[in-house]
This record gives sequence, structure tokens and C-alpha cells, in this order.
Amino acid sequence: MSQFEIIQKEIGPMENFVYLIGDKQTKKAAIVDPGWDAEAISKMAHDAGYSITDILVSHTHFDHVNALGDLLKKLDATVHVHKSEAPYLKSAQGNIKPSESGDVLELGSTKIRFIHTPGHTPGSQCFHVDDNLISGDTLFINGCGRCDLPGGNPEEMYESLHNKLMKLKDTTTLYPGHNYAATKTSTISKEKENNPFMLKESLEDFLRLRMGL
Ligand SMILES: [Zn+2]
Repeated sequence: MSQFEIIQKEIGPMENFVYLIGDKQTKKAAIVDPGWDAEAISKMAHDAGYSITDILVSHTHFDHVNALGDLLKKLDATVHVHKSEAPYLKSAQGNIKPSESGDVLELGSTKIRFIHTPGHTPGSQCFHVDDNLISGDTLFINGCGRCDLPGGNPEEMYESLHNKLMKLKDTTTLYPGHNYAATKTSTISKEKENNPFMLKESLEDFLRLRMGL
């Protein structure tokens, strides 16, 4: 039996998934992407018997962080956001620990590894726990994040998907940042088979599909 669990909850009007990664022995938990409803997020931890010690931010778009200020009024937690986006997170300034690729957060014996995956935003990051990946708005089921918003970069997205996420084990379970598909989770192997953005082997083909070029 694994020493941690991942709880997935859809919150808010934009189909955001908020995640709790809980270490079963110490009952410490990290929340990923605290959007929309601080009350619902703290209840999520309370109902499962966890106390929130850390908050992980996949990127700083409002729908992923707009409950952060309210949550920090209820509890004291360390906020992990990629160093390039840390200045934008005004609601958490005293609590921020800027992160970079390869950093590992230990919750008891549960190890969460940070993978920097720019493309949707400059500081987008994914969270890798054993054979699980929480992917924010980088990789979706059968899709990937937009690259045409400020700070987006389709070349970087291609690199992130093809040279970082596709290199993970095929059995890795994928937990995306939004509930945009028919299922709520997937695997890296299914995405390699079905996801049009993973199937485009060349950068040129990828750009044509992503940007409609
Ligand atoms: Zn976003």
C-alpha cells in the first residue's frame, strides 16, 4: 500500500481540479492549485484527517490561485511557486518559497518532485509523486495548455511535453488541472497514443496544430 494518497476535487466555474497530496503516516498534506473556494479546500483536508502544511502552485493564472489569500488567513503554509512567477503572487508574499526544477518537497516519507514545464506560462511546473503526475495547465487529457496568452511560448511547450513529460514512465497516472475530458485521469501511455499534441513529432507540426499556423 502506498504511503500517500491523492484526492481530486473539481471546484469553481472553470472546471478546475484542486488536489490534495496526503502523507498517510504524518497526516501532513499539500494542496495543489488553491482556486475559488478556501472553505471547500480546508474542508477537503479536514474531512480526510489531514493538516495542510504546503501549497503547490502549478502557475499563477487566477483560476488556480484565487483562493490562496483566504486559505492563508485560515492556516499557515509554505507556498511553492516557480521562481519566475513568485513576484506575481501578491496574496502570499510572506509565505513563498520559490521553487525550481528538480526541487523535492518531503511530506513525511512522501517525496514530491517539481518539474519546470514552461509553455503555458514561463513558470509552469508539474508535480511528480511516485508514478503520478499533477500537470496543471501543461498537459491535459487529449490536449495541452494554451500558448497564446501573455507569457505563453509554444516552442517551450513542445520541449516540456516531448522532452520532459513524455520521458516519464508509461504507467504514470496523469492528473490534469481542469476537468475538460470524458475521464478525470489518464496515463502517460494513453496520452502518447491519443493526445494530438503528443503525437506531433516535429516542432513544425506541433506549432501548426497549437497555434493554427
Ligand atoms: Zn492557466
